[in-house]
Amino acid sequence: MILARSMIETIAAALSAHGLTLRGGFNFAGDEETPSGLSGGAARSVLLVGQAGAAPWPHFLRWKESQLQAVANPLDTWSREVIGGVANDFGARAVSPSDRPYLPFQQWAMRAEGLRPSPLGILMHPQYGLWHAYRGALLFEVEIALHEPRGVIHLCDTCVDKPCLKSCPVSAYSADGFAYETCLAHVRGQSGAPCRTGGCLDRNACPYGVDYRYPPQVQAFHMAAFAGR
Ligand code: SF4
Ligand code: SF4
Repeated sequence: MILARSMIETIAAALSAHGLTLRGGFNFAGDEETPSGLSGGAARSVLLVGQAGAAPWPHFLRWKESQLQAVANPLDTWSREVIGGVANDFGARAVSPSDRPYLPFQQWAMRAEGLRPSPLGILMHPQYGLWHAYRGALLFEVEIALHEPRGVIHLCDTCVDKPCLKSCPVSAYSADGFAYETCLAHVRGQSGAPCRTGGCLDRNACPYGVDYRYPPQVQAFHMAAFAGR
């Protein structure tokens, strides 16, 4: 049995009602070790679920405001609730990037949409630039009528100036990787207000996908979560 394209489109529509986007998918190779599906058998395929720009934000805010008390990790909780509901309706097992042990979401995402990492580590999307994210995945015990894409353009290859490596006041991103503690100390410190209120200056310096850039309040929300505030 194969999950038909028409069914995949119906799943995409169900996710889109919450501002979420179906972010491609693929069939696992026969010899690949895979997580379990809904019934406990090996998953044979995966559909990635995420966002393009800040589309889920109003849906998330409505949900958050309707909660009777403060919810820990609210965006993760909302994502699990919504994606879990869709999984339930379509016979899939929902998994999250925050599940432990970690699942290989970055590798899955690269296979599902043919993306590669930017110098910031975030995958570079040809349309959304750096303004997208993955919120979960649906695991199926059947194959799906989707295949791994080939030949997707990687914009960083032709970006000569790489402004994303030149805008951070403490040069947290470099060829050596990401200096997490340096970034965290700056974001928490007195001079970190621009990062706290408007988001990462390096990420905002990328010239691609600007139509999908998260509004400042969304970036501030993510920065507060990063800084533990
Ligand atoms: S600024 Fe250039 S190198 Fe950096 S993420 Fe954007 S396209 Fe890639
Ligand atoms: S959040 Fe601020 S300190 Fe951290 S990498 Fe981005 S610009 Fe640098």
